[in-house]
Amino acid sequence: MSRCFNFSAGPATLPLEVLQQAQVDLVDFRGTGMSVMEMSHRGKDYMTIHQNAERNLRVLMDIPENYKVLFLQGGASTQFAAIPLNLFGANRSADYVNTGAWSKKAIAEAQRFGTVQVIASSEDRNFTYIPTLTSSLYSADADYIHITSNNTIYGTCYPTLPDVGNMTLVCDMSSDILSKPYDVSKFGVIYAGAQKNIGPSGLTIVIVRDDLIGNALDITPSMLNFQTHADSGSMFNTPPCFTIYMAGLVLDWMLRNGGVEAMEVRNKEKAALLYSFLDQSTLFNAPVEGDARSIMNTTFVTGDEALDKLFISQAEANNLRGLKGHRSVGGMRASIYNAFTKEGVEKLVEFMKDFERSNG
Ligand code: PMP
Repeated sequence: MSRCFNFSAGPATLPLEVLQQAQVDLVDFRGTGMSVMEMSHRGKDYMTIHQNAERNLRVLMDIPENYKVLFLQGGASTQFAAIPLNLFGANRSADYVNTGAWSKKAIAEAQRFGTVQVIASSEDRNFTYIPTLTSSLYSADADYIHITSNNTIYGTCYPTLPDVGNMTLVCDMSSDILSKPYDVSKFGVIYAGAQKNIGPSGLTIVIVRDDLIGNALDITPSMLNFQTHADSGSMFNTPPCFTIYMAGLVLDWMLRNGGVEAMEVRNKEKAALLYSFLDQSTLFNAPVEGDARSIMNTTFVTGDEALDKLFISQAEANNLRGLKGHRSVGGMRASIYNAFTKEGVEKLVEFMKDFERSNG
C-alpha cells in the first residue's frame, strides 16, 4: 500500500483507519450479507448507522436540544438558496459579509429572493483579511446575518465570532466545522458540505434552531424546506446512505481521538509548523494577515509563477499532492484538515526548505 500526503481542499484526506474499517465492512457489513450501499434506507441496520452519526455529531459539537441536525444533499451550494428561502421574513432582507468566492456565491443566490446588504468586505485586499464587524453595520430590518467562517480558497478565518446580539447568525462552516469548538447556541443556522472534515462528498449537514423551521417562503420547493427534513428525520427521500456511514466512522474516529478540543490542539500545532516556516522564509510568503490565518487552509506564494509551478510539480514527485492553489488565486495552498497528519506537514516543511536552498 502506498498513500501520498494529500493536501487537497475537498474532497480531502480521510483517516486511514476509517478507510480500513470501510474496507472491512464493504462487501458484508457486519454479518448482514450486504454492503451499506445496498441496504434499504428504512431498514434497522441503516437506521442504526444514521442515528449513530447524528448522535456522534451532537456529542462532538455539544448541539443543544432545541437544534435539529439535518443530513441533506446538494452541497453547501444548495444551502446558498435554502437559507434565504427558509429565513426571509416579510422584508426579505439579509446582511452578508463578503470574505471571498464562496461568500459571493451565497450573496448572488440570496439576491434572487430578496434584498442583500453587503455590510463588510475584504475584497479590496484580495480577501487576505477578515473585516471587523460592529453592530453599527447591521441593518435593522435584516432577517439574518450571513458569514463564511473559514474561506477555503484564500486561507482566512474569523479570529473571533462577531457579536450579533439578538440577530440571527447564519454560518457557512464548510471548511472548519469540527476543527475547533464552536458554541452552536450562538448561531441560528450552521451548514457545511461534508467533504473536508466530515467524510466523502455527497452529504450536507445543516444544524438549525427549532424556531427557524416552518417559516419558509411559499415558493420554497419541498426539498429545500427545512421543515420537510426536520419532520422526517432527514428521511423524506433516500439519503446518501454510504456517505453518512462514512461520516459516522469519521465522527467515531474523532471521539476516540479526544473530540473537537483535541482536534484544535493538533490543528494549531500543524498550522504553526507551516506558518512559522513561512514567516522566516526568504523564498515563500504567506499573504494572509496574522490573526485571520486559517488553521485549515494555508496559502503561500513565491511571487514568481514559474517557480510556483516548479514547486508544485516537484512536490508531486515527492508524494506531496494537491498543493496547487485555487485556479482563481494561483500560488499554493496546503489544506490540513483534521485527518491530515502532523507527519505530512513536517514532510512539506522539509521539502520547502530543500526547495528554498535550491531555488532561493
Ligand atoms: N463554502 C465553502 C467555504 C467551501 O469551501 C465550499 C466548497 N469548497 C462550498 C461552500 C461549496 O460547497 P459544495 O461543493 O459542497 O457545494
